[in-house]
Amino acid sequence: MFQTTIASSATTEGVGLHTGVYGHVTLTPAPAETGIVFRRTDLDNFPIEAQGHNVARVSYATSLMKQGVLLSTTEHLLAAIYSCGIDNIFIDVDSIEIPILDGSAEPFMQMLEKCGIRKLRRRRRFLKVLKPLELVEGDRRVGIYPANEFHVRCYVDFPHPQVGRQEFEMTVNADSFRHLLARARTFCFERDIEPLRAMGLIRGGSLENAIVLTESGVMNGPLRFPDEFSRHKALDLIGDLALVGLPLLARVEAHKAGHALHTQLVSRLLADPSLWTITTAEAFVPEMDQAQPVAPAAD
Ligand SMILES: [Zn+2]
Repeated sequence: MFQTTIASSATTEGVGLHTGVYGHVTLTPAPAETGIVFRRTDLDNFPIEAQGHNVARVSYATSLMKQGVLLSTTEHLLAAIYSCGIDNIFIDVDSIEIPILDGSAEPFMQMLEKCGIRKLRRRRRFLKVLKPLELVEGDRRVGIYPANEFHVRCYVDFPHPQVGRQEFEMTVNADSFRHLLARARTFCFERDIEPLRAMGLIRGGSLENAIVLTESGVMNGPLRFPDEFSRHKALDLIGDLALVGLPLLARVEAHKAGHALHTQLVSRLLADPSLWTITTAEAFVPEMDQAQPVAPAAD
């Protein structure tokens, strides 16, 4: 019902997956109505709000850019913050990229657990989706639909004996995220490593921060979940949806999608206010109550 922030600060450090640049991240409590805001401490605390209008280049990771100031690979940290229901937080970063750590959101969850959560004296507002929105690109698609909670469903299909077709679905909250998604790591195919390096990407990539898939197996097993790949895709999806800027009341489905489609969905959704409404918890609970007597009439 009430907005939250973290109760205390915590810091971590490490190398960025794509740039290879070493950096530090400090999570700091923020007042109500701040939202999730990155601050580049190496650039006079330049703020970059975690919002759809600041999305920049998106390919193998999601990057934000504001007035030419870039910040890469925000998705894993944002997935943890968003799933924990933290509305207001400063994320202080002294480099161009969020550290990749072990390739999952688990280290960020541990930081957030150490910080604790504090309630603020201001009502939480939700973005409640009223009408569906679907984006299709070839055999990839992503859609957002009305729902009374935040639910994600992710489908991946990679022609590889360890991956194949995987589907993962859950209602998003701190508990489900911690137990089902946080530990799922990013992954890449061994055959893509050289082409990605040639593109100037994965300069900080190593066997310690990504699952590497060989032609038939996993170079650095064991996997943390048999379906770690679809779980990580769901984690990425949640991290990109955080860019909506408010907690979502919606069901989101992603079919072979990636950061580009996820962030397009956020931008298109925010650009069309007829698709959603802003509500407080009180405003949607009575609506759910009203819906109950209506249901039997459908029989
Ligand atoms: Zn990822």
